[in-house]
Amino acid sequence: MLPIMIESSRTDLLSLEPDALRQTLSAHFASRGQAAYRAEQVARWIYGRLGQSFEGMTDLPVDEREVMSATFRIDEPETDRVSLSVDGTAKHLWRLSDGQLVESVLIPTDRRLTLCISSQAGCAMGCTFCATGWGGFDRQLSPGEIVGQYRASRRWADENDYGPITNIVYMGMGEPLANRPAVNASLTILNQGYGVGARRITVSTVGVVPGILELAERPEQFGLALSLHAPDPGLRRELIPLEKRYPLGEVLDALRRFDGAGGRRITFEYTMIRDVNDAPTLASRLAVIARDVGAFVNLIPFNPIPYKDWTASPPERISRFASILEEAGVPVAVRETRGRDIDAACGQLRAHALVELRPGRGRTS
Ligand code: SAH
Ligand code: SF4
Repeated sequence: MLPIMIESSRTDLLSLEPDALRQTLSAHFASRGQAAYRAEQVARWIYGRLGQSFEGMTDLPVDEREVMSATFRIDEPETDRVSLSVDGTAKHLWRLSDGQLVESVLIPTDRRLTLCISSQAGCAMGCTFCATGWGGFDRQLSPGEIVGQYRASRRWADENDYGPITNIVYMGMGEPLANRPAVNASLTILNQGYGVGARRITVSTVGVVPGILELAERPEQFGLALSLHAPDPGLRRELIPLEKRYPLGEVLDALRRFDGAGGRRITFEYTMIRDVNDAPTLASRLAVIARDVGAFVNLIPFNPIPYKDWTASPPERISRFASILEEAGVPVAVRETRGRDIDAACGQLRAHALVELRPGRGRTS
């Protein structure tokens, strides 16, 4: 009788860190009386050629490919939808094996192709300005589901003449530092397996202190972006409920430790919401904090969401804010909003889907 194949009983190779992958494969081939080099052959298919199926690993004997298919899996997310912006930004909505939807965005600029990936389906942090936050939390992504977004996006970018992905940011859906086991593993896999330089990978957090400290302990120089949005704890609390658990002072202490670990880049993300957090006095306070930890400041015009009637700060207000930071010696950039026509910012496509499919799911304001 044929054994019944239960999906979860097969080991997901995309979720294994490179060392564990090689050990697992070595043990597998040893138990089958196969040569030791077979493990490296498979590793090369996975990391070098982005192999998606064991049948396609043509330098392995056919029998071995069949046994591998029954023992392991290489599950990439399936494309549910691709939206292309007039500015070249490409957003993928991915369907995971249990039907969950997450998204990633490819953002081409002059010299770079940045991939923005998701770390959770939804997010539990409930930031009031963020569509993902309003949609609530569904589940954690596995390392393979995070890495799978990179693999599938890289293949898509190649097929569509976007060129190689140069940078990865964990700025899609979810709070990466609230999914540390999977995110830590995915960082190792992207860096050691797929060869993406640590300094080309940035983890964005809303301020999960233990996660920042853990990242500081790692030897690799991954970049960190703190979603700050307010230099003042009172105002920050209105935007980011997590401020109650990890107050700004503690977050800044953690950032000093991160900065002290050497050679790492810290960025502040600051979403500019009209008449909420764009007063010139706040720019001066922000400058003090940014200088303290050597942060680069990214000012992002607020992207309207269905749940709030806030609007983006007008351009002259943003310029004024930026000048105050510059005059205080803080490096600053005003991020143009990319892919607005396709709702490429921050969980919006899925948020719209949630509104359509599950009315009453989000909070009401
Ligand atoms: N949870 C992480 C990473 C995902 S959010 C974090 O919060 O850092 C990615 C970025 O998009 C964050 O800086 C977030 O503050 C920002 N963002 C969320 N909603 C936005 C909106 N409506 N307009 C502009 N930026 C937004
Ligand atoms: Fe979550 Fe980041 Fe959105 Fe806050 S801004 S709700 S942490 S995804």
